[in-house]
Amino acid sequence: MTPLEDARHLIAGPGISAESGVPTFLGPGGLWRNFRPEDLATFEAFAKDPQLVWEWYRWRRSLIAGVHPNPSRLALVELERRTPVFTLITQNADGLHDRAGSKNIRKIHGDIWLTRCALCSYQRVDTAAENEGVPRCPDCAAPLRPGVEVPLRQPVAQRRRQQQTLIQVVRSESLAVVISYG
Ligand SMILES: [Zn+2]
Repeated sequence: MTPLEDARHLIAGPGISAESGVPTFLGPGGLWRNFRPEDLATFEAFAKDPQLVWEWYRWRRSLIAGVHPNPSRLALVELERRTPVFTLITQNADGLHDRAGSKNIRKIHGDIWLTRCALCSYQRVDTAAENEGVPRCPDCAAPLRPGVEVPLRQPVAQRRRQQQTLIQVVRSESLAVVISYG
């Protein structure tokens, strides 16, 4: 058995999305190079201009809808199939692990296809970049927001420390393999 086949928890970084042609939030070629993240990705920004935030996320959803899971994603599906207990911990919020066929996924930054209420616990999974304007919660009428969480206001050093802590926690439980960690 190879070390990869022995993995129980596996962390996938944003590089695996970049390989699929999906722009990532951070790093070279990431969307943040063209947009000010503080204008788009925080709860405060959503409260200030939800229409702008939704336009940006719908554009991103449309980009993601046009790409296919790459071989790396498919390999993770195969790895899960061969491993009795397997968790894929991913930084990617694009939903491509789901489309590839992965089952047991923990999404650190949420899911761009998830639409959830800004106030109550309502949430739903969208399948296309549909609708215009700011959707409303059917339960409480508050604005719905995209289900992505990116801690952009954290200093880079703090973010790195948290990532290292996560890796150490995973390693303490079993073998961890880091793929395209960026
Ligand atoms: Zn609600």
